[in-house]
Amino acid sequence: MRSLKAAFARRTDRAGASRAVPLLRTAILTLGVVVAVHAVSSEIIPPLPADNPAAWCQRVSERLPGISKTDCRASALVPTGARSHNGFPILIRRFVAASEKKIASNAGVVAVNPGSGMGATPLRILLLGGIHGDELTASAIVFQWMQSMPGGAAEKFHWEVVPMLNPDGLLASQPSRVNAKGVDLNRNFPTLNWDIEAPRYWARQTGSDPRRYPGKSPLSEPETRWLNDELLRFRPQLIISVHAPFGVLDFDGPTAPPQRFGRLSLNPVGVYPGSLGNYYGALGKVPVITIELPNARVMPTDAETRKIWTDMLAWIDRNVAARTTGDQDAKPAPKSLSASAGTALLNR
Ligand SMILES: [Zn+2]
Repeated sequence: MRSLKAAFARRTDRAGASRAVPLLRTAILTLGVVVAVHAVSSEIIPPLPADNPAAWCQRVSERLPGISKTDCRASALVPTGARSHNGFPILIRRFVAASEKKIASNAGVVAVNPGSGMGATPLRILLLGGIHGDELTASAIVFQWMQSMPGGAAEKFHWEVVPMLNPDGLLASQPSRVNAKGVDLNRNFPTLNWDIEAPRYWARQTGSDPRRYPGKSPLSEPETRWLNDELLRFRPQLIISVHAPFGVLDFDGPTAPPQRFGRLSLNPVGVYPGSLGNYYGALGKVPVITIELPNARVMPTDAETRKIWTDMLAWIDRNVAARTTGDQDAKPAPKSLSASAGTALLNR
């Protein structure tokens, strides 16, 4: 709590100071932002072949805490066909629910989400890590959770797992929150009135912080365009997005929020123009769990990593799966809430 209050105080101070700067200083700051954004985009990482897990895993294991090359290979990620701005393949693993796999084998065909015929269709869950590339633990913990998914309680559900949505930020020589074009991907989703709200929020509330630049237009980036297409295709009924380092839980969506996973307790961090939680949770009425790990570089203990996972699965079972039947409530929202209604505490 103490660090939360300190973070809030720092941001409040900065927002207050930015309102007071004279015009000339604003112009200089703006110029600085352009230079900073340009500097990020000048770092080119050579593209990798899309079908070369050894090459991906070499790079990923050098960067992620606690994830070896063997762990990465065992995750069995496959290319989606999309690539980051710098050409790194966006990787995914799809897990089919155990009940659907049995039906598929009995019928001698591969089931594509047909429903069990004996109850509700298994819940579709999207698990995302690393939308901010400098939150290394947010990607690493998704790799660790993936290891426990086969044969575990997670098999009740359908999963799509994307541990690194921002590979360019993650693999940059200095890991960066933004992608290779200097865009904060978690401000680039098409929320209501994005054209007005996102640039205004960036200028007024962040002091044109280059780490929070929302881009020139919604879905301007290959990473967010791919995710948006995948959301429309997969139609998740729950989204889990992992961040760091604020050490809290946040929640957007129609159901009562979870109170605690492991040591992380609920502490809403606000609604932002262009964020995934705003786009899908506040507007689309799809529950979005945001996990903020307590440290971006140092992993939680193995016991804590397991506890967050098991608490989360139990909560999903009781509060989402039990209330969700069939394909209802699975569409993205074409329009969003006004971003100005958001209360910015932490700017996750
Ligand atoms: Zn983040």
